[in-house]
Amino acid sequence: MDVIVCIKQVPSTNEVRINPETNTIIREGVEAIINPFDMYALEEGLRVRDRMGGKVTVLSMGIPSVAELLREAISLGADEAILLSDKAFAGSDTLATSYALSMGIRKIGKYDLIICGKQATDGDTAQVGPSLAEKLGIPHTTYVRKIEAMEEGYIRCQRLTDDGYEVVEMILPALITVVKEINEPRLPSLKGMMRSKKAVITTWNAEDINANKDLCGLKGSPTQVIKTFTPVHDIKSEIIEGTPAEQAKKLADKLLSLKF
Ligand SMILES: Cc1cc2nc3c(=O)[nH]c(=O)nc-3n(C[C@H](O)[C@H](O)[C@H](O)COP(=O)(O)OP(=O)(O)OC[C@H]3O[C@@H](n4cnc5c(N)ncnc54)[C@H](O)[C@@H]3O)c2cc1C
Repeated sequence: MDVIVCIKQVPSTNEVRINPETNTIIREGVEAIINPFDMYALEEGLRVRDRMGGKVTVLSMGIPSVAELLREAISLGADEAILLSDKAFAGSDTLATSYALSMGIRKIGKYDLIICGKQATDGDTAQVGPSLAEKLGIPHTTYVRKIEAMEEGYIRCQRLTDDGYEVVEMILPALITVVKEINEPRLPSLKGMMRSKKAVITTWNAEDINANKDLCGLKGSPTQVIKTFTPVHDIKSEIIEGTPAEQAKKLADKLLSLKF
């Protein structure tokens, strides 16, 4: 089984700072890490390979320094790493990001399963996985918490829902996005760390992947950030005391006295 794991570089904090003038993320001075959900995606890819053979390729679109994070993925056990990096990709929204990734994957050629994290901790949209699957014309399932069964051309997985889980069957190749309940990511091994030092990180630009530059980066991004702001939480709350029956009565009285 050949697995492709999509990995995004994110700031090591959830407190993403935005430049109010350009409305872009301020990346300077913030440590970069692999998106935490992508660590679970990588672990699941490694487990599939360890069970069934094949290889794990990690793929990222980002600035040249993302190569160091791909090296980290190799130290954890990934077989190959590919970075899509080009000025033409700068300012991509989710549509342009999934377009570039889909063109990179078309160039990779053969694969059985693509694994993404459920969402990135900075952009947070959770759109790239499903959008990528649509661009490649393959089925997908989001919020996967367990791969129940997998064989040539077939996968059955559990998809986390608000009140339990659904069992979804798909034909391969397919894409899944994973939640943290799926596994416990491993630590790098000494052998892996040695291998990662020497590993070649393949870098492809827009031309290498035959991408139409009009569909990349800012040019290919139909969404634009018009304004960013921190929401103000100014709703006053009140604790209703008493026995459950008293609380219910007081609440009912309050609701009945409200004028709309
Ligand atoms: C309207 C809008 C405008 C934006 N403008 C800017 C901007 O000006 N500058 C800026 O820096 N960012 C901008 N962004 C953020 C940027 O578009 C997103 O970071 C990017 O498209 C990925 O979306 P996400 O972070 O929501 O990822 P999600 O969809 O939440 O990520 C899900 C999964 O997809 C995969 N994935 C996502 N991105 C990548 C990647 N690059 N490489 C490999 N795998 C990936 C990972 O597996 C990840 O776990 C903008 C986003 C939006 C919605």
